[in-house]
Amino acid sequence: MAIWNLGSINADMVYALPHLPAPGETLAATDLQQFLGGKGANMSVAAARAGSHVCHIGAVGADGVWAVDRLTEYGVDTRHIAETDTPTGHAIIAVDRQAENQIILFPGANREISTDQLGQALTQAESGDILIIQNETNMQAEAAKMGRDLGLRVCYAAAPFDATAVQSVLPFLDLLFLNEVEAQQLQQATGKTPMELGIADVIITLGAKGARHFCAETGEIQDFPAHRVTAVDTTGAGDTFTGYVLSGLDRSLPMPQAMALAARAAALMVTRPGTADVIPDLKEVQEASF
Ligand code: ATP
Repeated sequence: MAIWNLGSINADMVYALPHLPAPGETLAATDLQQFLGGKGANMSVAAARAGSHVCHIGAVGADGVWAVDRLTEYGVDTRHIAETDTPTGHAIIAVDRQAENQIILFPGANREISTDQLGQALTQAESGDILIIQNETNMQAEAAKMGRDLGLRVCYAAAPFDATAVQSVLPFLDLLFLNEVEAQQLQQATGKTPMELGIADVIITLGAKGARHFCAETGEIQDFPAHRVTAVDTTGAGDTFTGYVLSGLDRSLPMPQAMALAARAAALMVTRPGTADVIPDLKEVQEASF
């Protein structure tokens, strides 16, 4: 089986600054580091590191060849990543000495995925494969509908939250991922709790409080505690959690086992600074001494 990920690929450019710039101010950075980022890329790396065959569907500009190479190096199948005339998506992240940040996100090539590209990729998927979608690309609703028609298990991480995008995919979903804030935003937008929507299984991650699974078939709610660790950087914890849950399901683990594995992977992740480049592999996750 395989996991198909319609997802973003970003260059995260992290600038170290003495303070965050005021309007009109020119400021010299004291350091610049470039990382592979984007929720899509993070999830692909996590699921691949967890042992699944992950086919990433996305787009980069001519300046993004390094990002595709990095994904390949991390075990992701990159055959369905297109090169467009638009530059690669990137985040300009300014961080001051107090670790406060300011982020400018340029979606770029991530929003240039074509219907043809999507169709060509998904027609190679097999019934029962997993499709994961987030909100940093275009084509969410088209992919969800195509996935449902092809008999794929359609999963969606509603981040960054966009009420219109979420409602356009809801009818086609098997599994919905939300964090605590997104769950509240969805409730405000629909007037119902995510569980009351009654369309799909729902997983709500709750940071250091753990995660909750709602089973649409039985109506049962199960809570999974987080592991107690000293967190140094929680960026990418949610994407790692999602990638590991999907890989567990892809490898036919029952949901409680998939959630437990994901909690171990995400706990390990928050002990490390960085995102895609430091997502742990299955062996590290299994051997971690929590
Ligand atoms: P991000 O956007 O930073 O990737 P998120 O808001 O999508 O994160 P969270 O709910 O913060 O996701 O975290 C996802 C999972 O990571 C949690 O369900 C938990 O298992 C694990 N996790 C997050 N923070 C901690 C922590 N401080 N200690 C242990 N585990 C944590």
